Amino acid sequence: MSIIIDEELCTGCASCKESCIYGAIELENNIAKVLPNCTLCGACVETCPEEAISLERGDVKAQKMDLSLFKGVWIIAEHYNKKINNVSLQLLSKGRELADILKVNLSLIILGASFDDKLEELSLYGMDEIIYIKSPILKDYYSDLYTKVITELVLENKPEIILIGATPTGRDFAPRVAKRLNAGLTADCTGLEIDLEAGNLLQTRPTYGGAIMATIRTPSSRPQMATVRAGIFSMPEKVKKKVNIRKIEYEFEEKDSVSKIVKVISKTKTNVNLEDAKIIVAGGRGVGSREGFRVIEKLAEVLDAELGGSRITVELNWLDPDRQIGQTGKTVTPKLYIACGISGAIQHIVGMENSEIVVAINKDPNAPIFNWSHYGIVGDLHEIIPVLIEEIKKIKVDE
Ligand SMILES: Cc1cc2nc3c(=O)[nH]c(=O)nc-3n(C[C@H](O)[C@H](O)[C@H](O)COP(=O)(O)OP(=O)(O)OC[C@H]3O[C@@H](n4cnc5c(N)ncnc54)[C@H](O)[C@@H]3O)c2cc1C
Repeated sequence: MSIIIDEELCTGCASCKESCIYGAIELENNIAKVLPNCTLCGACVETCPEEAISLERGDVKAQKMDLSLFKGVWIIAEHYNKKINNVSLQLLSKGRELADILKVNLSLIILGASFDDKLEELSLYGMDEIIYIKSPILKDYYSDLYTKVITELVLENKPEIILIGATPTGRDFAPRVAKRLNAGLTADCTGLEIDLEAGNLLQTRPTYGGAIMATIRTPSSRPQMATVRAGIFSMPEKVKKKVNIRKIEYEFEEKDSVSKIVKVISKTKTNVNLEDAKIIVAGGRGVGSREGFRVIEKLAEVLDAELGGSRITVELNWLDPDRQIGQTGKTVTPKLYIACGISGAIQHIVGMENSEIVVAINKDPNAPIFNWSHYGIVGDLHEIIPVLIEEIKKIKVDE
């Protein structure tokens, strides 16, 4: 890649020079000149008011894309055992919001084998269109077939936004599709909005280990692709409306894929269902020990709640890994989240910030978790929780 300056368009205004934090642009005879220490970050391309600067990719000079050709929001469905994954339905709810702002259609794309009898039920989830790619082999997930089909569909239909669950399969095919389309892809988004002025998708995700939230946009190419974790957005309300259903049959055979699925082994189902839990009691390092967790468990029991925790409690082996909440754990949206002895590091917060009510118990009145809580109790959790348990038991008896 290299930066190209169109000398005919350049007016020597120096806005590119000012935008370059690396000092890699100089003015020579009133024309911008790129110096060898340029990092190709592209800041100057965006700043130039004359559009005199472009980023050349490989041998192909970056061409200006006609963004107006791209319309519509697509959600790529993930499914297992003939059931659409909740993350795809949650994306439909956010997708509806984005499509309404842009005044475009929302489409659900299903690559599968036996969804004919499910389409009517699925059409209650608020989309305008279902594109059902049907082939017997697509009852299972094939990375290369998904990549091929989705790339072809996108080239033909030109959606402007594509949202995919940040699941193991979504994380597998999304970058492959993005590479083939030369499209921008933001992984693991925790927020999606529309920039009302330019109509770009604003894709927010934690970065630098969660220390900051970065908002990424793809202003000069389409489609704009993003993967999103389960639990970030709520499930859509069911609505009755007319949905256009397009069924496209593909005649794939096993030999069309480089991979062959020999056997599908279902993961042993755990009883942990943090994503759907209504109440979660979570413990952090402040609990003090594995034995100390017993009091957290008791509070969870009395509230019929799921048990969760911070990453440190998993690392210390106080809690099972599938109960970790946060950036590298689960994203949860309960009605009530009780954080006990958790400081409130951003990596934890991104996993629980959408809880309806947050109660924090911490002995440090300045703990950051209080900034994210609706109710705070300052004190030792080992003194406070037993009192809470007794009071809850009393309320239960009275009921
Ligand atoms: C790339 C990356 C990914 C990460 N992913 C995650 C993730 O997914 N989830 C996650 O949780 N973390 C994650 N972390 C770790 C995160 O940065 C924090 O280190 C972690 O969340 C802190 O856990 P904690 O709040 O339990 O512990 P601490 O930060 O040590 O906080 C303990 C708190 O307990 C309080 N306390 C102590 N004793 C008591 C008591 N007796 N009663 C009441 N309060 C008490 C203290 O005042 C303190 O506020 C990640 C970090 C990185 C770099």
